[in-house]
Amino acid sequence: MINVKEELCNHCGSCVKACPFGAIKIINQVAVIGEECTLCGACVQVCKACAIEIERKEKLIDFSRYKDIWVFVEIKDDKVRNVTYELLGKARQLADELGENVCAILLGKAVQDLCEDLSDYGADKIFVAEDDSLEQYYTEPYTSVLVGLITKYEPNIVIYPATKIGRDLAPRVAATLEVGLTADCTGLSIQDGRLLQTRPAFGGNIMADIISVTRPQMATIRPNVMKKGELIKGRATEIVKMPVKIDPKGIRTVIKEIISMKSSDVVPLDEAEIIVSGGRGIGSKENFKVIEDLADVLNAAVGASRSAVDLGWKPKSYQVGQSGTTVSPKIYIACGISGKIQHLVGMSGSDIIIAINKDPEAPIFNVADYGIIGDLNKVVPELTKVLIKELASRQM
Ligand SMILES: Cc1cc2nc3c(=O)[nH]c(=O)nc-3n(C[C@H](O)[C@H](O)[C@H](O)COP(=O)(O)OP(=O)(O)OC[C@H]3O[C@@H](n4cnc5c(N)ncnc54)[C@H](O)[C@@H]3O)c2cc1C
Repeated sequence: MINVKEELCNHCGSCVKACPFGAIKIINQVAVIGEECTLCGACVQVCKACAIEIERKEKLIDFSRYKDIWVFVEIKDDKVRNVTYELLGKARQLADELGENVCAILLGKAVQDLCEDLSDYGADKIFVAEDDSLEQYYTEPYTSVLVGLITKYEPNIVIYPATKIGRDLAPRVAATLEVGLTADCTGLSIQDGRLLQTRPAFGGNIMADIISVTRPQMATIRPNVMKKGELIKGRATEIVKMPVKIDPKGIRTVIKEIISMKSSDVVPLDEAEIIVSGGRGIGSKENFKVIEDLADVLNAAVGASRSAVDLGWKPKSYQVGQSGTTVSPKIYIACGISGKIQHLVGMSGSDIIIAINKDPEAPIFNVADYGIIGDLNKVVPELTKVLIKELASRQM
């Protein structure tokens, strides 16, 4: 329920500008909220006079009416990011178990063309909200639109990618709706009709299963943790257009320029098909050259353990693991990495793991498909030499 305290309203109009659904008018010097209101809360956040209040709690008691699994769609360079398809794959599996629908939530400018791909990857329904102001991700309008949609349609579960955008958006939505959120999940399953959200806890030493006592149940999931769903062309999907009207003056931040940190000749870690990673066993910053030489030959990305990063041998962006990037390449080559749990949670989804370590008892060998026991200073350059020869002979 939304109320305007008339005695506090100073008819400044900031709520009118902030409302993405065009639901507020100033009539007789008081803000009046119309039927288009979705309880998104954008007006509450901007009202300096504290004249608008929303009462949500009583709406959250009856869980039975909360239905369907929603996936927030992340767009980058006009394309749906791969992680969205991973989340759709998981959502499809959970929805089939619950007998509910998978819904994709697509926000942006002129994004309807992306619906086909979302449908092919498992969406039964797609909610589309288009507006010029949604072209770039901004916290406030994205939060308002999403909170509005959730309040109106009452989904059972909402999942977001644990990317920079998802990690910004999901907590804001959760706080506005006063519901729980489990961040950085590595597993989702259904138990007794509820969402079991699995994530590392206590420094990665245990995996905790978390359930929410509020609805919708919300979680962020790291890229490269879930497998993409099956691609089925021509699936019947309902598209629901959500009219929104965002006044750019209501957005408090402005993106002036997006500067990519990625250089064109470096393979990004989270998209690489092959990764060669180095740990403390590399011995020095300079010695990372042996890893880079092997990566060059394989057209692979270079990764590092946290120890290597903490020692200043590689920047943090190279770190694989619980507090770094989660990867799932076709081949992961771990050189001089012991295989502590915090590293394993970030790379155990790789198709083939090759470990090179001088200690035959190193835990990395427990997850490795192929293990080489030996000094990496001899093994890695030898491997690089053999591969160069092999590739040269193939080109002849
Ligand atoms: C909250 C938390 C979050 C964390 N997040 C991460 C994370 O995201 N990523 C991560 O990696 N870690 C993370 N850690 C740290 C993690 O617990 C380990 O300390 C770290 O992974 C160890 O890195 P390492 O394997 O390179 O080093 P070590 O454990 O010291 O292992 C070095 C290995 O190199 C081998 N070696 C040495 N010399 C040679 C040689 N010449 N040839 C071959 N092998 C050799 C040794 O036998 C050994 O197995 C986290 C820890 C905590 C508490």
